[in-house]
Amino acid sequence: MKKIQMVDLKGQYKGIKDAVNPAIQEIIENTSFINGPKVHEFQKNLENYLGVKHVIPCANGTDALQIAMMGLGLKPGDEVITADFTFAATVEVIALLQLTPVLVDVNPDDFNIDVEAIKKAITPKTKAIVPVHLFGQSANMEAIMDIAKEHNLFVIEDNAQAIGATYTFSNGQKAKAGTIGDVASTSFFPSKNLGGYGDGGAIFTNNDELAHTIRGIVNHGMYERYHHDVVGVNSRLDSIQAAVLDIKLKHLDGYNKARREAANKYTEALKGLDKITTPFEYGAPDNHVYHQYTLKLNGVDRDGLVKFLNKNDIPCGVYYPIPLHKQKAYEDSRYNEADFVVTNQLIKDVISLPMHTELDDEQITFITSKIIEFING
Ligand SMILES: *Cc1c(COP(=O)(O)O)cnc(C)c1O
Repeated sequence: MKKIQMVDLKGQYKGIKDAVNPAIQEIIENTSFINGPKVHEFQKNLENYLGVKHVIPCANGTDALQIAMMGLGLKPGDEVITADFTFAATVEVIALLQLTPVLVDVNPDDFNIDVEAIKKAITPKTKAIVPVHLFGQSANMEAIMDIAKEHNLFVIEDNAQAIGATYTFSNGQKAKAGTIGDVASTSFFPSKNLGGYGDGGAIFTNNDELAHTIRGIVNHGMYERYHHDVVGVNSRLDSIQAAVLDIKLKHLDGYNKARREAANKYTEALKGLDKITTPFEYGAPDNHVYHQYTLKLNGVDRDGLVKFLNKNDIPCGVYYPIPLHKQKAYEDSRYNEADFVVTNQLIKDVISLPMHTELDDEQITFITSKIIEFING
């Protein structure tokens, strides 16, 4: 059996090596490392793939979030509602911009931001909601857009984990995750569903004016050479990353399908166990692109299971072990533990299994058999 890895980028590379190597070589030969034609080409191809008017590439997913918020003109003191159960980047940029993060609880089933909790958290100072499409599954965008409309709030989708997911509205209309809110951010960190061979990110929007503003912000606030109209940043996707990403974009649907198939096999093997809750799929199945395959344990010694799997050379992860509202940097006396019942429980119960495009049946059978062995004691 092949060695089991949490993410197998080397195995994936083997399948695209013949395209990737010359593409990287070409960038080196033509030395258009920054703002080269490849960046523009990738941008256009991603716009077409997503069905969104504007993709603005940038240096990473954290920058993308920050730039999206700068582009919307959010001001110090504005309140931004986001999920307590996610990676820290989301709340970090809110705090960096001196906006006020308002963390709220998530759903126990799909782990995404809880719509009722959003409603409860809205105040006259609330300006934006940042749903994070966690683990590859789009949040309940229909309800979130309705709330935003009612209260005149911006919606910034953190789509770092769900690129390629397709959201279906109750009227049957479909849209890619990251194209529904006012603006969205994504990350091309190597292990993401569309990952480069280094850092990268992008902002998506259908709003022409916002896209124009953001294109200036990513380039030192310049709209005309050496005229700095607003305070900006330097945040670029380099051409080598764009070349790799452009090749991988052609495979993205195939990669996401491979993830789904692996997820279905895990679920098939584990769904009968009452001490395990397999991932809940919200809406149509193509709404979940399985950035992570995350189980909820019910009365299982998680640390013991992690150790047992590791002893059997099976890596696994705990995303996320600490709720954001309990992180030193983001503690706030306004928070009330009673408002974080779900997150406080999830951090104790979740475990993520190896998930990538190269998992084979033998590996999945081995992993699930070891989990069953541990659970049945
Ligand atoms: C990865 C990730 C980010 C940050 O992306 P980087 O490219 O690492 O800066 C932001 N939000 C979420 C939910 C992520 O998973």
